[in-house]
Formats: sequence, C-alpha cells, structure tokens
Amino acid sequence: MPIFEFECKDCSNKFEELIKGQKKIYCPQCNSNNLKKLISASGKISDESKCNWDDPSLPNKQEFQRKR
Ligand SMILES: [Zn+2]
Repeated sequence: MPIFEFECKDCSNKFEELIKGQKKIYCPQCNSNNLKKLISASGKISDESKCNWDDPSLPNKQEFQRKR
C-alpha cells in the first residue's frame, strides 16, 4: 500500500499517511486538510540499488555515472 508524506501548511507538521482509496487526509496535529503532498519516503528506490554492478554485460559504474 502506498504511504505518502504530507506537510501541513497551517502548522508545518510533517506526517506519513497510508492512502486507501479516496480517503481525506487531515493533519493529526491541528486537524487541517490544507496539506502539501511530499515525495513518498518508503517508495523511493534508487537506481543504484536496482543495478548489479558485477554484471559484465553492463557498463561499469563510473561510465554509467558519467553518462548521466
Ligand atoms: Zn497541521
């Protein structure tokens, strides 16, 4: 299930919420729904962790980083 991070625009509280369907999200601190959605903390997977750098069919790590 996707977990999203929110920041409350009223009190600057940051919190994470599990999103199920069209559920309305409220700030747990001040109960406002004036929220900004931030990038999910748990859904972040870096490119590097998905790559197997020992695979000889792939370009080496330095080369890969230079191309980006
Ligand atoms: Zn708040």
